[in-house]
Parts: sequence; C-alpha cells; structure tokens
Amino acid sequence: MASPLDAKLSSALGGRTAAALTKGLGLATVGDLLMHFPRRYARRGELTALSHLPRDENVTIVAEVIEVRERPMRARKGTILEAVITDGKGRLTLTFFNQAWRIKDLRPGVRGIFAGKVGDYRGTLQLAHPDYELFEPHDWPGGEQPGDEGLRDAQAAAWAQTPIPIYPATASVASWQLQKAIGVVLDTLPALADPVPDAVRDARGLVPFSRALELIHRPTVDTEWKSARAALRFQEAFVLQVALLEQRQRLKEQAAVPRLPKQGGLLEQFDAALGFTLTSDQLVVGAEVAADIAKAEPMNRLLQGEVGSGKTVVALRAMLAVADSGGQSALLAPTEVLAGQHLRSIVANLGPDLAARLRPTLITGQLPVADRRKATLATVSGQAHIVVGTHALLSESVEFFDLGLVVVDEQHRFGVDQREALRRKGTVPPHVLVLTATPIPRTVAMTVFGDLDISTIAELPQGRQGIETFVVPLAERPGWQARIWERLAEELALGRQAFVVCPAIDSAHPEAGELPPDPTPGPGLDGTEAARPVANVTDTLAMLRANPLLAAARIEALHGRLTSDEKDARMRAFATGEIDVLVATTVIEVGVDVPNASAMIVLDADRFGVSQLHQLRGRVGRGGVPGLCLLVTGAEDGSLARERVDAVAATLDGFELALMDLELRQEGDVLGGVQSGGRSSLRLLRVAKDGDLILEARGLAEEVLADDPTLAGHPALREALDRRLDESERDFLAKS
Ligand code: ADP
Ligand code: MG
Repeated sequence: MASPLDAKLSSALGGRTAAALTKGLGLATVGDLLMHFPRRYARRGELTALSHLPRDENVTIVAEVIEVRERPMRARKGTILEAVITDGKGRLTLTFFNQAWRIKDLRPGVRGIFAGKVGDYRGTLQLAHPDYELFEPHDWPGGEQPGDEGLRDAQAAAWAQTPIPIYPATASVASWQLQKAIGVVLDTLPALADPVPDAVRDARGLVPFSRALELIHRPTVDTEWKSARAALRFQEAFVLQVALLEQRQRLKEQAAVPRLPKQGGLLEQFDAALGFTLTSDQLVVGAEVAADIAKAEPMNRLLQGEVGSGKTVVALRAMLAVADSGGQSALLAPTEVLAGQHLRSIVANLGPDLAARLRPTLITGQLPVADRRKATLATVSGQAHIVVGTHALLSESVEFFDLGLVVVDEQHRFGVDQREALRRKGTVPPHVLVLTATPIPRTVAMTVFGDLDISTIAELPQGRQGIETFVVPLAERPGWQARIWERLAEELALGRQAFVVCPAIDSAHPEAGELPPDPTPGPGLDGTEAARPVANVTDTLAMLRANPLLAAARIEALHGRLTSDEKDARMRAFATGEIDVLVATTVIEVGVDVPNASAMIVLDADRFGVSQLHQLRGRVGRGGVPGLCLLVTGAEDGSLARERVDAVAATLDGFELALMDLELRQEGDVLGGVQSGGRSSLRLLRVAKDGDLILEARGLAEEVLADDPTLAGHPALREALDRRLDESERDFLAKS
C-alpha cells in the first residue's frame, strides 16, 4: 500500500496551489511538502512592542502596515520608500532607499514580522532596510481576504503567543502560503508508519513520526517544535545511514573486472621513468588503490589530500594498471580549464612513448565537432586508454569500449548522482576513485560519502617551500594598498609569476562561471555589511597595467566569461611563462599547477569562504620557491568576515579550516553546489554539529541491517529509503 506521503500534491490541494508549489519550490508530493520544514520560528520573546522601542538595538516586531509612500530624496538622486507600521499601540517608520518595488509587498493592511536596528532620524525612530516576512494572505489563489478588525486582532494576538514558523520561501511562494498549504494537508493526514523502529525511537524518547510532523509545522509552544525537530533529525540521520550502508553493500555485491599491472608493463615503465620518489603516503595509498582494483568487486574510494600532495600521480598509476589489463580510465574534472590542464600534465608525465601507447584524449563540451567525433571514436574503440573530460563525459554520445576506472577530481563539485551516471557507463561496473583536496571531517565523510572507503595523503612532497600568508587589513591600514603592488613587483623581479584574484569579473558581473559565489551574508539583522563594490578583474587589470612598477610585466585576465579556448590559451601561456600575472576569478581555484607561480594576492578576500581561500592559496608554493599569499580585505577587525580571513592566514591545516568552514557556512557548501540545490540534500541534519548523532545513527543502522538485510520486517523504513532515492532521481532528472 502506498504511503499517504507519496500522494500527488494536486490530489491534496487545489490544482493551482499545487502547481505554484511545484513550480516555485519543486514540491510534487504530500511528503515533499510536509518535509519542507520551517527555517526558523519567530519566538514571542523576540517581539518588541512599538511603544517601548530601544534606540540602536535590534528588534523584531509583529505589526501591520498602515501607510506607504514613495518620495524623492532631498539631497541626492533617488527615491525613498517609507512605510508606517503599527502594532496597535505604537507606530514606526520603515525606510528603503531606491527600492520602490517594495511598494508591491508593503501594502496597507499587510501584516508581517519586521526586524532591524532602531535608528533615529531627525528625532523620529525608524528602521532602515529592515528584514521582513509578510504573513497576510493577500493574493494566494483561492485564499481568504483578511477578515474584519476583530478577527485581525485575534490573529495578531495568536501570532504573539505561538511560535511562528518561517519557511524557506521563494519570490513566488511566500512563507505564509506554505504554512496554509501545509495546514490543509495536515488536517486530513492519516497516521503514518514510522521509518524508525519503535524500539529505537522509544529508547531515545522521540515523538512518533506523525506527531513530529504536526509539531514541527504547528507548534503551540517552543518545546513542541524542538522535540519534533529532534525526532525528525534523528529519522533523517538514521534513514540516510541505512541508505548509505545499503548502497555500499550493493556496490560490493557487483562483479567488477580485477585490474592487475603486467610484469614489465606500462606501470613499471612509468615508475622507472618517474622523476621523483613517491612519498610514503603516496606509496601506502597507492597500495590500497592497487589492492582495491585487483579485486573482483568495484573499488569505491575517496582519496583526500592537501593541494599539491600528489594525488594525481596516484590516480595516474592506477590508470596505468588498468591500461596494463587492457582497460580504459576516465578522469572527470570540474572545469574545462582543469580538464585541459590534466590532459597536458598527464601527457607530460607519461612521456612521449607511453603517451603514444595510451593516447590520452580530451572530451569537453566546447570541443569542435570534428575533434569531438575523433575523441569519441577513440573512446568507443578502446584506443584511448585515458579519457579526460568535463561533464561532457557523462553525455549519452560518449561510450567506452572497456571502462575499468573512473577518477573523479575534486569531488565537491560533483554530486553522488554524477558519479553514479559515470559508473553506469561501464558494461561491468568500473572501479571508482574520487580525489578531493578539500579535507573532509569524519562525520561529513560518513554522511556525504558514506558509501566510500577513505584514504588520506597527509604529507607534502619534499622540497616544498611552504606558503606564508598575510592579511592586508585595508580598513585599519589603507596606506598598505600601494605596498601590495610593490610586493608583487618584487616577486616578478625574482623571475616569478603571480595570481591576483578578484571576486567579480567586472562591475556588472559577479563570477558566474564554474563556482557558485560564496554566500556572503547579506545585510544582516544588524544592518551592517553595506553593499560595498568588490574588486573585479576588468578594473584590476587596467589598474595593474597602468602601474609604472609593473610596466614590464605581461598581465592578462582569466575568468569564466572567456571561451574555453581563450581560457585554455591563457592558462597555457601562464604555465609556459609567457604571462607574468594572471588577474583571475576563482576559475583558477582548483588543481592549477604552475610551479613558478610564487605569489597570490586575493582582493576582497572576505568575499570568499574559508575553504575556498585555502584552496586558492594552494595554487602557489607548489615548486621549489616559497609561496606568498596576501589576503587583502576591507572588513573590519572583529567582524565575522574578518575572522574568516584571519583564520586562513593563521593556519595551513586544511582539516582545521574545513571544520571551521562547516561551522560558519551553510551545509550546502560542504556538500557541494550540485547536492545542496536538490531536495535530497540534508534537511535538519547538520554534519558539523550532529557528529555524535550521525555516529549513533550509523551504529543503529548497522544493527538493523545485520538483523534484517532486506528490511522485509521494516516496511516503513523501506518506503522512506525508496522515497529518498526517488527524490534524488527526480532532482537528477530535473537537472539534466
Ligand atoms: P594534487 O593533485 O594532490 O594537488 P599533484 O598530483 O598535482 O597534486 O602534484 C603536484 C605537483 O607535485 C605535480 O607537479 C607533481 O608532479 C608533483 N609531485 C607529486 N608527487 C611528488 C613527489 N613524491 N615528489 C615530488 N614531486 C611530486
Ligand atoms: Mg590535482
């Protein structure tokens, strides 16, 4: 019998409402809607009465808009939107500069929650640019119009009493619309079977599933939604761990082709010609990988190691073992630049003789048609033993003759789904090796990569000179600006090269290339973080070219709006030393390898995440010359933004920074853009905070599976697992 959660939304709500929820938020079933949990609850204690407004403090107010007007500013160009709100006892003016469009939202009669810092303008209290969430159902299809005065007052009183769920909403579906739709569904929801076995739930004192759904959406007191969250969070961790363990088991049950290096074969030839000695970590990890691929079950291994720790060589040696056994390897890179660079460095590493025999081949989306045809032919015929590419490798038109190994570089850009798609390219499941330079704390690994075995390279190859990192705090030391460029000129004078990294391409374009921009906190409730223009590639390029100190330097730009040919050509010119300074966006973040590049200057460094800065910094100090990294920031001492930058300067330990990142940022960034967007990403579980819970859930999941491997005795759990799979499949389809 199908679960009520699998019912289509359109059968539970009006067609128009259902359509709006599907279109706006991708919610298709009753389960999707009910699992769309409130982001937060406005609590009674947060609310301030308008009659007692504290100056210069942050307040949250439930109130009604009574008046709105727009007028030109007196001293400057532009307009001011003023809205007067009341809570029945006092009044307050909200002001917005040049945001006339808000007149659509803030109509008289509309109620909402308003948050901001109380300011004083010519003796009148006001909130400038407050955050707000509106509740009033004004244009919901089929919704009610606000009732009479008495009803509205009663509503207002109720709002002040009960926790108000605030949902992740979009422009087209507001929080209160969700609240209403969820209420409709909850009213008629039959009792649900709980995926968490009764004994497990009771032992932990968790509320049952149906009750938890009710309490998370319609709490009457704070303790209710808290206990609901605890129960649903545990359920999430538990179902996830069962899913991962099952997946892992399923993968192990598949038959794979064992790949063994040949005596006197390609791998031996490669090792004999290798220009350096492998580090002991490289040897250990190399042996783990070799043992895995020699088995008749597919390898699923994650290889983590700092930038420059030599992961690529380990992967290449595995590819050679596969080639020795006649098979092919695919290397999936996150960007065209990196795919191109990987190909070149593989060719260089192999040397002419091995390269001729292995025919490393590039397949990317931007390849000219004729080249692509040639490349896909070499791939399907099996002549190309190493195929390097971007997402284009996943496309239908790419077929392999005998795919033995898939190497995914920089996993955090790829979701589980893509790994899966590539895996399916082999007639027999290929071995899979995932490389990541983002150190992954244990609980994250267990959550996100729970189906993988993990290897770590901790030591860097010898002879690395290391990196020195300095913060250039322009807020306190504006005079240091000129010194930055002097320092750059000094590096160049030593015959070295440098990167200058900017958050944006030009004043109109934030980097929309390969990386989602760091979700810098927008104007917070405390109203700080004014929209400061950020450094961009175009202006910085012009500025550097005009600097007499750099007159002799060859300076070029690199960013996501160049064609891949241009990007490739510039990257290559930089690698061969024809360019001295690359002014770039984060397209150079991952994997770029130019040993002579010694300096990196990151402008507006506070615009980047902690891990991102660490990755960026890893681009320099890769050869025998010491690296220098200047993190330039206008963020003030003591601000959160500044704290992040200072943290990166303070340590080279990627694990430490990754943990800090986890605490500071949204989960989505940890899981990677691909995963965070989808509904199959984590809901209530937070890998940074919930480590213990995750470990516990894993233990219980192991017990349940050991007892009942097919879960025949746990139908509700089975259903929850299928629902999870179904969801990620839908996400995957929606994206491809
Ligand atoms: P990663 O992919 O882990 O960032 P790479 O595999 O690209 O690192 O290696 C970075 C650089 O170090 C490359 O130029 C590579 O040839 C070199 N390298 C790798 N292993 C060693 C080693 N054991 N000794 C010296 N150099 C090494
Ligand atoms: Mg690499």
